[in-house]
Amino acid sequence: MKTVKDYIRTIVDFPHEGIMFRDVTTLFADPRGMRLAIDQLLDPYVGQRIDKVVGLEARGFIIGGAIAHQLSIGFVPIRKKGKLPGAVISEDYQLEYGEAVVEIHDDAIQPGEKILVVDDLLATGGTAEAGIKLVERLGGEIVGCAFIIDLPELGGRAKLDALGYEIHALCE
Ligand code: 5GP
Repeated sequence: MKTVKDYIRTIVDFPHEGIMFRDVTTLFADPRGMRLAIDQLLDPYVGQRIDKVVGLEARGFIIGGAIAHQLSIGFVPIRKKGKLPGAVISEDYQLEYGEAVVEIHDDAIQPGEKILVVDDLLATGGTAEAGIKLVERLGGEIVGCAFIIDLPELGGRAKLDALGYEIHALCE
């Protein structure tokens, strides 16, 4: 039987020369791959209270929408600066070259809500950490952070582990 990893392809030199891009569109496009990934992402949280799933732009929206439907809970997007129409709070974080800003609607999460954060891939952890900060600034409590892929050599898991967050990844 195929594993989640078997459905992911690598595109060499994207978006820049020297980068090996892990492409999950082939996983999403396969009916068995998609179901396998969503089931495995949810597995550690069976029986736990989760009030909302927060997805990081953009592939976290695909995963987060499927998880929200499966659990019959709400979905909240964290988007890049300037994309959300309502009042937002923002967090800056460092990229390899430069800075990025992510935002969440300031009324998207109520204090005390239990939140699962999802994205396709964990690399340096900068994106996930900024997302976690936004959730916590609104009073949300992080149940865990779930990813399809972890690139451990880039340090994201170690960083989030050290901060006390529970990380779940399907493959490395
Ligand atoms: P980080 O902030 O952890 O360094 O980078 C993670 C973010 O970059 C995620 O939102 C993820 O979607 C994106 N990303 C970085 N490299 C890749 C890659 O090789 N494949 C995919 N699918 N996403 C990547």
